[in-house]
Amino acid sequence: MALIKCSECGTDISDKAVSCPKCGCPLHKTEENQEPGKGKKRGKTFLISGGILFFVSMVIGLAGVSTQVGLNAKRLSRGLSGAETLEWMFLRYVPEFFLWVSIILVIIGIVLLVTARKK
Ligand SMILES: [Zn+2]
Repeated sequence: MALIKCSECGTDISDKAVSCPKCGCPLHKTEENQEPGKGKKRGKTFLISGGILFFVSMVIGLAGVSTQVGLNAKRLSRGLSGAETLEWMFLRYVPEFFLWVSIILVIIGIVLLVTARKK
Protein backbone atom coordinates (compact mmCIF):
# COMPACT_ATOMS: atom_id res chain seq x y z
CA MET A 1 0.00 0.00 0.00
CA ALA A 2 1.47 3.30 -1.03
CA LEU A 3 0.62 6.81 0.03
CA ILE A 4 -0.16 9.49 -2.53
CA LYS A 5 -0.94 13.17 -2.19
CA CYS A 6 -4.49 14.39 -2.68
CA SER A 7 -4.67 16.61 -5.77
CA GLU A 8 -6.99 19.04 -3.96
CA CYS A 9 -5.65 19.46 -0.41
CA GLY A 10 -2.28 17.67 -0.49
CA THR A 11 -3.06 15.23 2.32
CA ASP A 12 -1.24 11.88 2.27
CA ILE A 13 -3.86 9.23 1.50
CA SER A 14 -3.84 5.55 0.55
CA ASP A 15 -3.70 4.89 -3.20
CA LYS A 16 -6.48 2.34 -2.63
CA ALA A 17 -8.88 4.97 -1.27
CA VAL A 18 -11.73 5.96 -3.58
CA SER A 19 -11.79 9.54 -2.32
CA CYS A 20 -9.79 11.79 0.01
CA PRO A 21 -10.96 11.30 3.66
CA LYS A 22 -10.21 14.96 4.44
CA CYS A 23 -11.80 16.90 1.58
CA GLY A 24 -13.78 14.17 -0.17
CA CYS A 25 -12.12 14.83 -3.52
CA PRO A 26 -12.36 11.73 -5.78
CA LEU A 27 -8.87 10.28 -6.29
CA HIS A 28 -7.09 10.99 -9.51
CA LYS A 29 -5.20 7.87 -10.47
CA THR A 30 -1.60 8.44 -11.48
CA GLU A 31 -0.40 7.68 -15.02
CA GLU A 32 1.21 4.48 -13.76
CA ASN A 33 -2.06 3.23 -12.32
CA GLN A 34 -3.91 3.89 -15.57
CA GLU A 35 -1.44 2.04 -17.78
CA PRO A 36 -2.56 -1.54 -17.06
CA GLY A 37 -6.12 -0.63 -18.03
CA LYS A 38 -4.87 0.87 -21.29
CA GLY A 39 -2.80 -2.22 -22.06
CA LYS A 40 -5.77 -4.45 -21.37
CA LYS A 41 -7.97 -2.38 -23.67
CA ARG A 42 -5.32 -2.49 -26.40
CA GLY A 43 -4.97 -6.25 -25.93
CA LYS A 44 -8.71 -6.70 -26.34
CA THR A 45 -8.69 -4.52 -29.49
CA PHE A 46 -5.96 -6.72 -30.99
CA LEU A 47 -7.83 -9.90 -30.03
CA ILE A 48 -11.10 -8.66 -31.55
CA SER A 49 -9.51 -7.44 -34.80
CA GLY A 50 -7.57 -10.72 -35.00
CA GLY A 51 -10.79 -12.67 -34.53
CA ILE A 52 -12.58 -10.67 -37.23
CA LEU A 53 -9.68 -11.14 -39.66
CA PHE A 54 -9.64 -14.87 -38.83
CA PHE A 55 -13.36 -15.07 -39.66
CA VAL A 56 -12.84 -13.12 -42.94
CA SER A 57 -9.99 -15.42 -43.98
CA MET A 58 -12.20 -18.44 -43.25
CA VAL A 59 -15.03 -17.04 -45.40
CA ILE A 60 -12.66 -16.22 -48.31
CA GLY A 61 -10.97 -19.58 -47.85
CA LEU A 62 -14.26 -21.50 -47.99
CA ALA A 63 -15.44 -19.51 -51.02
CA GLY A 64 -12.04 -20.12 -52.58
CA VAL A 65 -12.22 -23.89 -52.14
CA SER A 66 -15.44 -24.20 -54.13
CA THR A 67 -14.11 -21.85 -56.84
CA GLN A 68 -10.83 -23.77 -56.97
CA VAL A 69 -12.67 -27.04 -57.52
CA GLY A 70 -14.46 -25.46 -60.51
CA LEU A 71 -11.24 -23.92 -61.87
CA ASN A 72 -9.35 -27.20 -61.47
CA ALA A 73 -12.02 -28.98 -63.49
CA LYS A 74 -11.70 -26.28 -66.19
CA ARG A 75 -7.91 -26.57 -66.19
CA LEU A 76 -8.12 -30.30 -66.68
CA SER A 77 -10.44 -29.98 -69.64
CA ARG A 78 -8.95 -27.04 -71.59
CA GLY A 79 -6.34 -25.14 -69.53
CA LEU A 80 -6.71 -21.89 -67.57
CA SER A 81 -6.69 -18.43 -69.13
CA GLY A 82 -4.42 -15.70 -67.67
CA ALA A 83 -7.28 -14.09 -65.75
CA GLU A 84 -8.33 -17.42 -64.27
CA THR A 85 -4.77 -18.15 -63.15
CA LEU A 86 -4.69 -14.79 -61.34
CA GLU A 87 -8.00 -15.60 -59.69
CA TRP A 88 -6.64 -18.95 -58.62
CA MET A 89 -3.51 -17.31 -57.15
CA PHE A 90 -5.68 -14.77 -55.28
CA LEU A 91 -7.89 -17.46 -53.78
CA ARG A 92 -4.90 -19.61 -52.93
CA TYR A 93 -2.72 -17.03 -51.16
CA VAL A 94 -4.94 -14.21 -49.84
CA PRO A 95 -6.84 -16.34 -47.27
CA GLU A 96 -3.53 -17.80 -46.11
CA PHE A 97 -2.05 -14.30 -45.73
CA PHE A 98 -5.13 -13.10 -43.80
CA LEU A 99 -4.94 -16.17 -41.60
CA TRP A 100 -1.31 -15.47 -40.63
CA VAL A 101 -2.01 -11.78 -39.96
CA SER A 102 -4.99 -12.73 -37.76
CA ILE A 103 -2.84 -15.24 -35.81
CA ILE A 104 -0.15 -12.55 -35.27
CA LEU A 105 -2.83 -10.05 -34.09
CA VAL A 106 -4.25 -12.62 -31.62
CA ILE A 107 -0.73 -13.37 -30.27
CA ILE A 108 -0.03 -9.62 -29.80
CA GLY A 109 -3.42 -9.29 -28.05
CA ILE A 110 -2.66 -12.17 -25.66
CA VAL A 111 0.83 -10.79 -24.91
CA LEU A 112 -0.66 -7.32 -24.17
CA LEU A 113 -3.33 -8.83 -21.92
CA VAL A 114 -0.78 -10.93 -20.01
CA THR A 115 1.65 -8.02 -19.52
CA ALA A 116 -1.25 -5.74 -18.51
CA ARG A 117 -2.37 -8.22 -15.84
CA LYS A 118 1.15 -8.52 -14.38
CA LYS A 119 1.39 -4.81 -13.58
ZN1 LIG B 1 -8.07 16.04 -0.16
